[in-house]
Amino acid sequence: FLELRNVSKRFGDNTVIDSLNLAIPKGELVTLLGPSGCGKTTVLRLVAGLERPNEGQIFIDGENVTHLSIQKRDICMVFQSYALFPHMTLGENIGYGLKMLGVSGAQIRQRVSEAMELVDLAGYENRFVDQISGGQQQRVALARALILKPKVLLFDEPLSNLDANLRRSMRDKIRELQTRFNITSLYVTHDQSEAFAVSDTVLVMNKGRIMQMGAPQTLYRQPVSRFMAGFMGEAN
Ligand code: ATP
Repeated sequence: FLELRNVSKRFGDNTVIDSLNLAIPKGELVTLLGPSGCGKTTVLRLVAGLERPNEGQIFIDGENVTHLSIQKRDICMVFQSYALFPHMTLGENIGYGLKMLGVSGAQIRQRVSEAMELVDLAGYENRFVDQISGGQQQRVALARALILKPKVLLFDEPLSNLDANLRRSMRDKIRELQTRFNITSLYVTHDQSEAFAVSDTVLVMNKGRIMQMGAPQTLYRQPVSRFMAGFMGEAN
């Protein structure tokens, strides 16, 4: 459903992504895990259309989107900085995308209130961003993405600004909602425990290449290379 075929990306003579092949079936969430600088964020930016590959193709739902702009790809991104609008209420923040699509006011209100309920923020419509906590802001960011029902949802280290307790509850929430809505998702993190908690399929990258992809237990029990054995061992 989301597919990268032989995708390479270079910045100058630095090959950041090296002939990457990746296919995520519809409705599944795959986590991309790897050391700092291995190219995780670049993969997300390529899928989003914020970067163009030097080689290879990207498909979403069977459509070749390699040369489409970000606006023409049916994707949403959730970042570590929540990128909410401070001058708008939470309800306006969440409804913003629908408003841009020309959805009617009454419908927007209805869908915003449903979305807020999903992320346990029912009744917070009229608050402003500076009146809620970081964890709540991240839930608003999640609601803002879900309300648009994108074909693909991209997460870039979404929990790294939160404390340990909030991280745990948020990753459960993300998993619950992603499963419920069946949205094909790619989730980037450098944190092994987060990667394993959020997804059943983890893809480990190093230096722009895929080292191994599989269930967390498989990566632990059957590392395919010295790099993988060392990388998995670091968490223990
Ligand atoms: P981190 O976990 O630290 O965010 P990452 O795995 O997400 O790392 P990327 O941000 O994808 O890694 O970066 C991969 C490599 O590409 C790095 O060496 C980085 O310096 C380089 N890079 C990324 N964006 C650019 C750019 N716009 N111009 C030049 N080099 C870049």
